[in-house]
Order: sequence, then C-alpha cells, then structure tokens
Amino acid sequence: MGAIAFPPPNPDVLAKRDRIIAGLRQFVGGEGVITDPHELTPYETDGFTAYRSVPLAVVLPETTAQVSDILAFCSREGVPVVPRGAGTSLAGGAIPQEDAVVLGVSRMKRILSIDYDSRTARVEAGITNIAISEAIGEDGFFFAPDPSSQIICSIAGNIAMNAGGAHCLKYGVTTNNLLGVTLVLLDGTAVELGGEHMDASGYDLLGLICGSEGQLGIITEAVVRILPKPEGARPVLFGFSSVAAAGACVAEIIAAGILPAAIEFMDRPAIAICEDFAKAGYPLDAEAMLIVEVEGSESEMAEMLEQIITIARRHGVGTIKESQSATETAQIWKGRKSAFGATGRVADYICMDGTIPTGQLPHVLTRISEIVAGYGLRVANVFHAGDGNLHPLILYNVNDPEQRQKAEDAGSDILRLCVEVGGCLTGEHGIGIEKRELMHHQFNAVDLDQQLRVHAVFDPGWLLNPAKVFPLDGREVAA
Ligand SMILES: Cc1cc2nc3c(=O)[nH]c(=O)nc-3n(C[C@H](O)[C@H](O)[C@H](O)COP(=O)(O)OP(=O)(O)OC[C@H]3O[C@@H](n4cnc5c(N)ncnc54)[C@H](O)[C@@H]3O)c2cc1C
Repeated sequence: MGAIAFPPPNPDVLAKRDRIIAGLRQFVGGEGVITDPHELTPYETDGFTAYRSVPLAVVLPETTAQVSDILAFCSREGVPVVPRGAGTSLAGGAIPQEDAVVLGVSRMKRILSIDYDSRTARVEAGITNIAISEAIGEDGFFFAPDPSSQIICSIAGNIAMNAGGAHCLKYGVTTNNLLGVTLVLLDGTAVELGGEHMDASGYDLLGLICGSEGQLGIITEAVVRILPKPEGARPVLFGFSSVAAAGACVAEIIAAGILPAAIEFMDRPAIAICEDFAKAGYPLDAEAMLIVEVEGSESEMAEMLEQIITIARRHGVGTIKESQSATETAQIWKGRKSAFGATGRVADYICMDGTIPTGQLPHVLTRISEIVAGYGLRVANVFHAGDGNLHPLILYNVNDPEQRQKAEDAGSDILRLCVEVGGCLTGEHGIGIEKRELMHHQFNAVDLDQQLRVHAVFDPGWLLNPAKVFPLDGREVAA
C-alpha cells in the first residue's frame, strides 16, 4: 500500500484557527467545542490505530439545527470537516487532518420514536448500535445489523460504512435495514432521504448515502427497520482438520441454498486467541472452526442442523458441539465478537476486510497463508464466512517500521487477490484512508470518474472527509 499520505494542510485555514473556533462557539456552547491539545487526543485517530493527526478543533452538536449552522459556517470559511461517530473505523475513516474540524455526533443519542406496527424506529445519529436493540428487546424486537463493535459504534458510523456483522448473512447489512435519514448538506440544508416505509419515491438517494463514508453530508437522524426476535437460536461449533475443508464446507452450505443466521470462521491461531479470552469451549485441536447459528422453532432448527451436519461430515468434520444453554450461547458469541480485542492482547495487527465469492474460500485462504508467510509475518483469520467477507488479522509490531510496511504490503496483496477472484476491497469496514490507493485496482478510470461526478454534486471543493476513499491523484472530474 505504501505510506498513507494526508493532503497538505491548507495554510489559510490554519492561519484563521482562532476565528474558526470562535465561529464554532457561536453555535455550540460550553464543552461542545474542544480545542485543548490533551482533550483532542482521543480524536487523533480511530480503530485503525497506526496513523494519527491532531485536528484543528472538535465540535459536538446536539441538534440537527446546530449541525446545519456548523456546516454552513465551515463551508463558507473553506474548512474541511471530518464527521465522527464513535471512532471505531478499522479503515481510518474517522482519522482527522490538521486543518479539519471534527464534527462528532456522540451527544445525539436519543431514540425519537418506535413504531411496532410499522416495525420502524427513528433514532439520533450518535446512538450506539446495541442501544437500539436494548430499547426494544423487552418487547420482543431487535435491530439486526450486529457489528462486533456494537456496544460502542454509532448508527451514523454504521450507515456511513454500511456496516455488517455475524448475522448479516440472514438479515443483510445496514443498507438492508435502513429506511431513511436526515442528512445535512455542506451548505447547511437539512434533507430527508427515504422515509418511514419500505419504498420511497424518486432516485434511491438513501442507497447512495449508505456507505458514503462521511463525504456527502452529515447524518443526524435515521429511521431503521426493527424485527421480531426469532423463536429460538442455537449456535453449533464445527472443528475441521484443515482450513480448506472448513472453507469447502461453507461453500457447499451456501451452494445448497441453506440460510443459517450466521456462519463464522476462525483458523487455529484465532481459535487459540479467542478461547483464551472467552473460555467458550472452542476446539483447540482444530485447524479451523465454524460457528453456524440456526434460528426458528425447535423443529425448524433441528431440520436445518441435520442438513448442515450432513454437509459438514462430507468435509470430514471432527468436533460437532451444539450450544446447550443460553450461557453457552453467550460464551460462544463472546469469543467471536471479542476476536479483535482479544487479538490485540497478543500482538498489534491490521485487520483486512475483503470480500470474495464463497466458492473461492478454500483457494483464497490457502493463498492468504502463503502471502503473509512470504513477508515473514503471522496471520489469524476470523470472519463472516457465509457472505464471503474475510478479515485476515495480520500480526506485526507497530513500533517496527519495517514490519509495519510488510504488514501493509501483505494486506494490499490480499485485497488485490480478493479483487482478482471476483470480490471487492471492502465488505463492511469501508475504504477509508487505508484502501484509498487500491481503488485504482478495483475500478477503471471511467468507473472512478463516474463516482467522482457524483461526489462533486455534493462537495465539489473536497471539504467533507477529503482524505478518504478516492486516490489523492486524479481527483479532477473529466471534462
Ligand atoms: C473491535 C472492533 C470490531 C469491529 N467489528 C465490526 C464488524 O463486525 N462489522 C463492521 O461492519 N465493522 C466493524 N468494526 C468497524 C467499525 O466499528 C464500523 O465501521 C462502524 O460502523 C463505525 O462506527 P463509528 O460510530 O465508530 O464510526 P466512526 O469510526 O466514527 O466513523 C466511520 C465513518 O463514518 C463517518 N461518519 C461518522 N458519523 C457520521 C455522520 N453523522 N454522518 C456522516 N458520516 C459519518 C466517518 O466520517 C467515517 O468515515 C469493528 C471495529 C472494531 C474496533
């Protein structure tokens, strides 16, 4: 990938820092504008921790009207704005730049309305993902997208990155569970896109905003789809003696048209790391493990499990262990959902996020091991296998620049491989700053130009999260 570059800071913006801060204070009082260097530290980076940069200021509005005032002011003054939810992006999507104001929505956390008849909820942008399910859980409902970071990440960040999670195999990713947003445009105009129901008229602008990585406007509210909880849910652990066998098993389950709620994959290093953390009963002797969760009534779950076990046996499965209780189920998911944090206890890592056709799993997993070994590094694989969304965690020492470069290069090779086998650069973490230069590998000049034209409609002067998504060279729209 090469070292990640930020655009050079605009000296005119840096020169009027005091005036910009005074301007922000007109709209948001008290502790809502942060300028103290120590207090800015948490905003220097995000979940993609290798790079950092201190922003000019952070502003934390509480209303859509304040967001409108701030954006109108910043666009008049030519100040870049980096939107921020909880700062858990693993692609460097929320990393600021020196001449930018970070606009955080962490103080906008309310649930505004819940409509069980229409199965929708309207929420503010900064609410955490889990808080939505918690608020409706006692009434038997939940919000389906479940990123592993769900106890901290915001719905705005989920929308901006089109986040996914373990159960997105069955329920889809954020875009499939989003009905509408309130979006503030760069000139301060607030617009409603989508609505309270499944179908909205006109162009699908909501689809454009979902996954737009903070570059087309600031989301201040969202209308999300809520679902009744399934009658029952049961995860089963399958241990295999080879990565290829586990990959082939996943490919056959999907090819057979069976749709479990989740199929999650871990290889031996990931199993050891997560078992040490969660004590979930994972098979430590296996080279690869699948967590397959089925949902429904007892008879529906039994029928689906029988089909899945038959396929797993064809691929030489060793351990088969069904969860026997709610406690065991919680432990199994704790291990999987803590995988990134647990890995962080043993080594620094970069988490890749490529997507491939599931039929390519055995080949790609073998190639990933070869690629990473070729750089003299180690890899732990833990990912959403059912939808072909890979997360190789490349282990390295962040304080060793040579190793860091090797880890980034290995990551880049893996993502190129994903594209070559018919997949793409990101399944759920976004392009951010991390994969920006690889966009040339996924898209040809014409494709990129079309995307730049869309971008230019919203932000022709590159003020919204400008260092991200598009390669820094060739950003001009063709005449
Ligand atoms: C331990 C861990 C596990 C994770 N697991 C998953 C997983 O399973 N699935 C998954 O998809 N991701 C996962 N992630 C990545 C991350 O949590 C998601 O991308 C999440 O959606 C980011 O939400 P956030 O609130 O932290 O957003 P941030 O990191 O603050 O921002 C992410 C992007 O959204 C933009 N943005 C933020 N707020 C707004 C707004 N109001 N309007 C417009 N744009 C905005 C930012 O500019 C940035 O481009 C994980 C991260 C960690 C650290």
